[in-house]
Amino acid sequence: MAIRLQMLTEDPKEIELIERYWAVDEFGQYLEKVSALAGLIEMAQGVTLTSFIRQRCNAFDENQVCPKCAELIEIKNRSQAKKVPQPSIKLCTLCQKDQDAIALEAQKAKAAELERQLTEYARNQSARTVDYSAIADRHVLLLLALDRAVTPRLTNGGFTIGDCRGLAPRYVGDFMQHLREAGLVLDDPSKARPGTYYWEGDDIWMLRDQVVYRLAPDAESRRADEVIRSLLDRVYTDAEGLFSLWLDYSVADVMRYLEAQCQLYNHELSEQELEEIKSTMRSALKTYSVSQLWSVVWKVVRDAASLANREYYNRWKAAATIPGKIRRNLEKVQRESIELKAWSRPEQHPAGTLGMVLGEILGVDENTSGHRVSSLVTWLTGQACSPTVEAELEEPIRELMTRALAQDVGSSVMLRFAELIRAGHEVGSAIEEIGEALRS
Ligand SMILES: [Zn+2]
Repeated sequence: MAIRLQMLTEDPKEIELIERYWAVDEFGQYLEKVSALAGLIEMAQGVTLTSFIRQRCNAFDENQVCPKCAELIEIKNRSQAKKVPQPSIKLCTLCQKDQDAIALEAQKAKAAELERQLTEYARNQSARTVDYSAIADRHVLLLLALDRAVTPRLTNGGFTIGDCRGLAPRYVGDFMQHLREAGLVLDDPSKARPGTYYWEGDDIWMLRDQVVYRLAPDAESRRADEVIRSLLDRVYTDAEGLFSLWLDYSVADVMRYLEAQCQLYNHELSEQELEEIKSTMRSALKTYSVSQLWSVVWKVVRDAASLANREYYNRWKAAATIPGKIRRNLEKVQRESIELKAWSRPEQHPAGTLGMVLGEILGVDENTSGHRVSSLVTWLTGQACSPTVEAELEEPIRELMTRALAQDVGSSVMLRFAELIRAGHEVGSAIEEIGEALRS
């Protein structure tokens, strides 16, 4: 007999049933069918013959031995038995139990090590403080916008990346990454849900969506809401940084529209094609406004849609023409000095809190051309008044003022000057324009 039985019952009728169940001939074939044995003993309702027998007898297959200790492997039913001797992949019950215990111990040790490393990480994070008066201008704007997007959680406990959705129309993760890389926003493992951080081999990985962030501690130990309030008084000086942030934001605003339009016409763009369009848009935004580029997107996506219906074309091939068409379209606009139409902001595409903050600080919106934003930023940061610029302005201003006083139009000249500056003109060009008007 290839099955060794270890009876757990003394009832002769049960023993007989068990022996008949497991009985095999010399070829390992079972002598009786399970269905023939089913009626022999009365069993409680819902109890199968197999489970009835398993409760009263342990069965070991002589054809399978434990690879570790060479004991026989316990089997639970007929189908687990082997007809010929063969090496077992399974361990015997005892060895399996030992192995499970070792694995559990290792798992516990890993969990404890994770806990230790995260605590140490959190302690190091908290020890690093930030001098908020020295952070970059663009980070000030990002923090003000973030505060509005997650209020009151930026200053009051933690927030997740999902909470920041209102920050910008797209690429919220990239904006957050800027703040993290600058050390202004920290992740706080102590506040994250269990399972957020986990081992992947010997590295600690995290579920990005569950990571809880908070503002880095202030070097002067002020509360987070005081830190944010102090940022409101910032005097901006970094023209390049601010313009670059405006470009990043505006690219997101254009790309959000592009993706919505592509979805509407079932155009699927690859990651590479999207990157290509992003670069084109970023460079076009130095000249045009977001709303003008929306109109370019609108036209190109529709052209591609009609192309898709043509012979020899399919959706995929038509979509692939979009990056090139956008580029050629913009080149033509520039070459022929075509005036681009401006689209109005779609209701379902809010500007995001970063758009609002940029609007308040610079007085810009989706209709402001990049060209004008650039002058506004230069004006705001006072870089238009560097010594050389000031020297260059001396002569035209003297002439303008002399004429204005001679013609007794001083106040209207000043009002006109203020108006031009507000509209985004640089000081030099405003002086020139008023000067010309006075001369004529
Ligand atoms: Zn074993």
